[in-house]
Amino acid sequence: MDVNLPDLEGQSAADILRWTFDRFSGLPDGQADRVAISTAFGPSGVVLLHLAQTVNPRVRAFFLDTGYHFPETLGMVERVRERLGIAVEVVSADPAVVSVEDPPGGVPLHARDTDRCCGIRKVDPTRVVLRGLDAWIAALRRDQGPTRAQTPVLEVRQSEGRDLVKVNPLVAWDRKRIWTYLFENDLPYNPLHDLGYPSVGCAPCTAPAEGASNEREGRWAGQAKLECGLHTRI
Ligand code: SF4
Repeated sequence: MDVNLPDLEGQSAADILRWTFDRFSGLPDGQADRVAISTAFGPSGVVLLHLAQTVNPRVRAFFLDTGYHFPETLGMVERVRERLGIAVEVVSADPAVVSVEDPPGGVPLHARDTDRCCGIRKVDPTRVVLRGLDAWIAALRRDQGPTRAQTPVLEVRQSEGRDLVKVNPLVAWDRKRIWTYLFENDLPYNPLHDLGYPSVGCAPCTAPAEGASNEREGRWAGQAKLECGLHTRI
């Protein structure tokens, strides 16, 4: 793949998305597009889905069902389909891998090795989806925490030995702008945010964090871990 990328820093999110779909989308009907959004239905993710849909009504999106999500998070699949008309693809870990690494009846893997658990339940299934993509769009923002402060608009990542363009249209947005956009456009959001969860991941690894200084607080509380690895290990 030609990996010479333009400098889109300072461009609007809609223009970044327009460039992305112009370059990587446009397959005939019936074929899966080679550009997709990953979402966990955080407020930024819902904003991104809404913006993307206005640019490309056929936008493709996927969600990783780790088996540990809150019911409120799982409910977002249907709420987004109803409100935005986007049928988000639900992706799960390989059950054969889970049965070996995290057998029923034992101490859960998330209680023994969170990196390994995120690896088999999030990172590896994402790699499988990425095999069919040339571009991957995510809703990362620089103000979400120290691990995301340097996120570029466009970057080239390696996944299983091939180049993949990662697109982050919302890097320059802040939390206030995201929530303003959500309310102005009457978009759905995970109700757990009203209960003090700044960021919502898997139930065993997410806690409320009232007054958090960054949105990643409350994830893997008590550990140094701030990222599952999707955006750092791929
Ligand atoms: Fe496992 Fe927790 Fe990672 Fe979810 S967030 S995949 S439960 S370690």
